[in-house]
Amino acid sequence: MRHLVLILGDQLNRDASAFDGFDPAQDGLWMAEVTGESTDPPSSQSRSAMFLAAMRHFAAALRTEGLPLDYTLLGQGLPTLAAALADTLQRLRPQALVLTAPGDWRVLQALRAVAAAHGLPLDLRDDRHFYSTVRDFAAHAKGRKQLRMEFFYREMRRRHAVLMDGDQPAGGEWNYDAQNRESFGKAGPQYVPPRVVFAPDAITQGAIADVRQHLAQLPGRLDSFAWPVTRLQALQALDRFITERLPHFGRHQDAMWAGEPWLWHAHLAAALNLKLLNPREVVAAAEAAWRAGQAPLPAVEGFIRQILGWREYVRGIYWTQMPDYAARNALDAQAPLPDFYWTGDTPMACLRDTITQTLDHGYAHHIQRLMVTGLYALLHGVVPQAVHHWYLAVYVDAVEWVELPNTLGMSQYADGGLMASKPYVATGQYIQRMSNHCAGCRFKPAQRVGDEACPFTTLYWDFLARHQVMLAQNPRMALQVKNLARLSAEERAAITARAAQVRRGL
Ligand SMILES: Cc1cc2nc3c(=O)[nH]c(=O)nc-3n(C[C@H](O)[C@H](O)[C@H](O)COP(=O)(O)OP(=O)(O)OC[C@H]3O[C@@H](n4cnc5c(N)ncnc54)[C@H](O)[C@@H]3O)c2cc1C
Ligand code: SF4
Repeated sequence: MRHLVLILGDQLNRDASAFDGFDPAQDGLWMAEVTGESTDPPSSQSRSAMFLAAMRHFAAALRTEGLPLDYTLLGQGLPTLAAALADTLQRLRPQALVLTAPGDWRVLQALRAVAAAHGLPLDLRDDRHFYSTVRDFAAHAKGRKQLRMEFFYREMRRRHAVLMDGDQPAGGEWNYDAQNRESFGKAGPQYVPPRVVFAPDAITQGAIADVRQHLAQLPGRLDSFAWPVTRLQALQALDRFITERLPHFGRHQDAMWAGEPWLWHAHLAAALNLKLLNPREVVAAAEAAWRAGQAPLPAVEGFIRQILGWREYVRGIYWTQMPDYAARNALDAQAPLPDFYWTGDTPMACLRDTITQTLDHGYAHHIQRLMVTGLYALLHGVVPQAVHHWYLAVYVDAVEWVELPNTLGMSQYADGGLMASKPYVATGQYIQRMSNHCAGCRFKPAQRVGDEACPFTTLYWDFLARHQVMLAQNPRMALQVKNLARLSAEERAAITARAAQVRRGL
């Protein structure tokens, strides 16, 4: 064999660079399902099923094309990618390995080590799925004191001529968030389109059965699994999003409502991250909807910013900062992750709803991730690496290049401000404003001490007090620090005492 082309579970695009120059007469393809990718670090049942179902469909399509594929099913081979590859190399004896750059630093190191141990060249190729390369990002970042997504995003809009009228942003503004992000009001969300459901076919049912058999100890549930797992299904999901949800996307982007997991979000992150969808086709479909008058500009710009801006930006942060990034803990947070993150068993209604939905579906939208589960972990002082492992485990769209900067940087401020210009901290009153959770909760969001005090609110003031010196140096936190200074010594002592009680368990 000349080349063995390695295809990872999040590289399911037939136009990937790894296929360039592939010659079925002398090259081979390799894919492997290994339990280690689900257990170390842990991955929920729905995330594992998502990857396996999509991999098996992709493998079936490759076989239909008549391509030579060496594929190992879950539980039938060795437990790690490195061991499985080493085993394959003994059997197939290729002269070289080919790989599109993986999305996970750990996986890259492991595969590199196997190639080196076997004395084989590894042809590592750029991942063309993304708009920008890591080199582009590094060039953007060079010489800047502070990195901010908004500047990177504008550069991307110009360079790729997205939502531009000549050299000006469409509609005259780069960002329309002032018109987005309303709450629902008392009546709650109205006329939410039903979730786009893809009933598991025989291949997906097989993947689900294997997860149940081999990975039964993993958290999460599989009963509602209905994600798009093929390119065709992903395109159908995109189409339905553009017509049914995009027109209302921005307006309620930050709003939450108990028992409403899907709202007007895209639910496309897993399809994008597994490369069933290309970001260019997603962005083009959204822009075309606006140009055809089918969706308003604030909704379309807000959506495109997530993909052309945030998604590319966090990838640049990840690959330019790893491996040290994963170990950062700027706030010296040391508490373990509370057990209820794995069960949803907590009297805090907002957390109970978000975590239960997460374990049921492998999904929560951005504000639930940032301002409910993420905010609580930050205020509680959970060690960021434990928070990172939870996020990497529970969401069907979790791949480390995107999950880690969002968790460690944006949500936990563990990188000391590289990703976010200030810690995203708020009291329970933010959650009250953006949702109906507090109406069904035994705690009171405006109260910071006493048995009925909202734990978010208590821990918010405690967070300000604990990090006052550092926060005082950040002009964007000045007002919040000033408010802390207005509290009497007795009030502050009562907050500290209640915070300690909350941390011990409610
Ligand atoms: C703590 C935390 C952890 C996160 N972990 C992940 C993760 O593991 N995988 C992941 O894809 N996203 C992650 N995000 C970003 C974001 O929350 C999800 O992309 C989004 O909720 C997925 O749902 P959706 O497809 O309905 O997205 P929508 O809200 O409808 O957004 C559209 C698309 O934009 C992209 N996008 C939106 N926000 C971001 C962002 N901040 N960074 C990168 N891309 C973005 C996604 O591809 C998404 O599908 C995380 C955010 C936080 C705060
Ligand atoms: S009162 Fe506090 S804990 Fe309860 S739902 Fe509101 S924010 Fe969450």
